[in-house]
Amino acid sequence: MKKINFYSGPAILPEEVLQQAKEAIDDFAGTGLSILEISHRSKEFVKVMHDARALVKELMNLNDNYEVLFLQGGGSTQFCMVPMNLLNENETAGYLDTGQWAHSAMEEAKLFGKVEVLGSSRESNYSFIPKLTNGEWQEASCKCKYIHLTSNNTIYGTQLNPSYYSPLATHHSLVVDMSSDIFSRQLDYSQFDLIYASAQKNAGAAGTTIVVVKKNILGTVNRKIPKMLDYQVHINKESIHNTPSVFAVYVSYLTLLWIKKEGIANIEARNIRKAKKLYDAIDASQIFEGMVAKEDRSLMNVCFKTKDVSLEKKFIEFCKQKNIVGIKGYRTVGGFRASLYNAMPESGVQELVNAIEDFEKLL
Ligand SMILES: *Cc1c(COP(=O)(O)O)cnc(C)c1O
Repeated sequence: MKKINFYSGPAILPEEVLQQAKEAIDDFAGTGLSILEISHRSKEFVKVMHDARALVKELMNLNDNYEVLFLQGGGSTQFCMVPMNLLNENETAGYLDTGQWAHSAMEEAKLFGKVEVLGSSRESNYSFIPKLTNGEWQEASCKCKYIHLTSNNTIYGTQLNPSYYSPLATHHSLVVDMSSDIFSRQLDYSQFDLIYASAQKNAGAAGTTIVVVKKNILGTVNRKIPKMLDYQVHINKESIHNTPSVFAVYVSYLTLLWIKKEGIANIEARNIRKAKKLYDAIDASQIFEGMVAKEDRSLMNVCFKTKDVSLEKKFIEFCKQKNIVGIKGYRTVGGFRASLYNAMPESGVQELVNAIEDFEKLL
């Protein structure tokens, strides 16, 4: 029996995407070959890469100043690729330290240039998003070549409000790690100069990373860049410089088609309903509680805990019996984390809400 999958990544995929991926393993696009054995230079796969790149741009409503790449090495490789391609040794980049991933990105940038920490909630285990005044942002902007933000902090369950971006975008070049909330809501994507997202959370299977780059930000660093880590090389080769992760790119392509069919506005409305349903249940409960500042709560990763720690294992066991998996919190945070990515249906969230309510009645 299929389980209700709340894992944070790799994560749940739409049922029809899984079905289509299965079919392509048998026979890809009528070629008589499996997607797993076809050449990345075949016209059928070149078309998938082309269409997937075009689809990202279409879903983000971006013009031809932007290029889309499907790269390898996960979100983590972008932590170094971004400063390597954008930051000279004597230049400064601003980082908002909102979680472990944001922090890692910042540490990698220090290998290539100077880093200014614009705000940090590290001292309180990242339980909120630091708010900066417009003045503070403007001051930072004068110094910074780019500002790096993490739109959704997967481990802690905090998310930047879309209104966070607009005052910044007028003054700065914004780089955003959207690994865990890409395509989860409507957004003016043209505010950003570079967007990256590992696919395995909200946009496909593990093995590929979507990178969207505004071309005019490239070519301003004087270091030598290895070809595999050079955005311009991948752009010139239309994202087939070397062998891409053919299968992962295909699964992402199928997921993008599904997103287009559903419509991001509908997906967003559903995501809001899902998160509200779960947060409401947590807030109404006598034994559970949320873990982060309410105004910064994520729509994608809902972190909560039992006030009595000894109930933690029991609740995970209780959920398991109800076919619910993947709700254990990250090891440095504890408690529970339910990931409500786009592919999680409302009925799945309802099952978890029922479990929360039933568990409380048992006590
Ligand atoms: C998962 C995650 C990463 C790391 O992605 P990998 O593909 O495992 O390298 C980076 N940033 C965020 C926000 C994430 O959620």
